[in-house]
Amino acid sequence: QALNDFLDLKGNIRVFCRVRPFLPDENCGCARPVLTSDSSKMLLRTTEKKSKQYSFDKVFHPQSTQEEVFSEIEPVIKSALDGYNVCIFAYGQTGTGKTYSMEGIPSNPGIVPRGIQAIFEQALESNYTFQFSFSMLEIYMGSLRDLLVPRSKKLRAPKAPRLSIQMNSIGGIEIENLICVEVCNFEQVKRLYNLGKRSRSTASTKSNSNSSRSHCLICITITCSAAPERQKETNKIWMIDLGGSERLLKTQATGRRMEEGKAINLSLSALGDVISALQQKKSHVPYRNSKLTQVLKDSLGLDSKTLMFVHVSPKEEDLCETICSLGFATRAK
Ligand code: ADP
Ligand code: MG
Repeated sequence: QALNDFLDLKGNIRVFCRVRPFLPDENCGCARPVLTSDSSKMLLRTTEKKSKQYSFDKVFHPQSTQEEVFSEIEPVIKSALDGYNVCIFAYGQTGTGKTYSMEGIPSNPGIVPRGIQAIFEQALESNYTFQFSFSMLEIYMGSLRDLLVPRSKKLRAPKAPRLSIQMNSIGGIEIENLICVEVCNFEQVKRLYNLGKRSRSTASTKSNSNSSRSHCLICITITCSAAPERQKETNKIWMIDLGGSERLLKTQATGRRMEEGKAINLSLSALGDVISALQQKKSHVPYRNSKLTQVLKDSLGLDSKTLMFVHVSPKEEDLCETICSLGFATRAK
């Protein structure tokens, strides 16, 4: 384990790209703009004659399975038990497979259920004793919402207390008033997750009938007892299904939808700025520019591991968004 850490010279931020397959009801056409060649490179045909090559830590083809994706990230998730904070992001235009990667579908679960199961299994094999707790929140229009607080349909229900981001004495971030439920197995997490999902702010846009105009964040807090040599008592795994990165024109959003889109774009660019500052080892990292980066301040950076999954569409008509997403990914490298 120590040797692995020593050999891990690649840095703690990895950028992966995943290309969604054509769906059964989509017309594949003959022009395929996105061509994956090997496991770390991607070729994008931008015009009939021109193409551009991008390289990433890993490229997942349309045929890549959930198992393949998970096997690549499993060691990173498990490193949370060695005391690392872990952040896994799903980035991309709406409809490119962010939720498919994170949550998956019932017949083919994604990173979140597989990862949580793996953590519980690994913890059982460890000599240490771990305690786990689960929280789930949403960042919508620049404010935090606890998804484990049931949404009040009637005015009678008490109003949820305001969440505020605080820093503790050792530089850790704490979200005051956020519900944090102790869990000891996967079934318990699943119940809470389903509960949280039902409270999300979803709305339809022209891009997707059930698109999320908010960021959804899951946090597993791990406390390790009987490990006196450890400096930090607790650490966190964040798994984040980001709001759709599409620009506003395409969705023909107006009014509130447009405001939601603006809020998402602002926080995504703030996230990009933080990751790029960390990658360039800049002395100033602009965490303060969005709620998203404030919440993750202690989990993005030195002692943490970050995986950014950038999702792209295989469709010709999405080429502009694909170029934007790959641009974001390149900046994060
Ligand atoms: P997003 O969360 O980015 O809006 P979704 O995860 O909802 O996108 O994916 C859109 C649709 O494409 C869903 O029906 C999903 O099941 C399907 N899909 C996405 N990625 C894949 C994949 N790798 N393999 C098969 N189906 C996929
Ligand atoms: Mg989604």
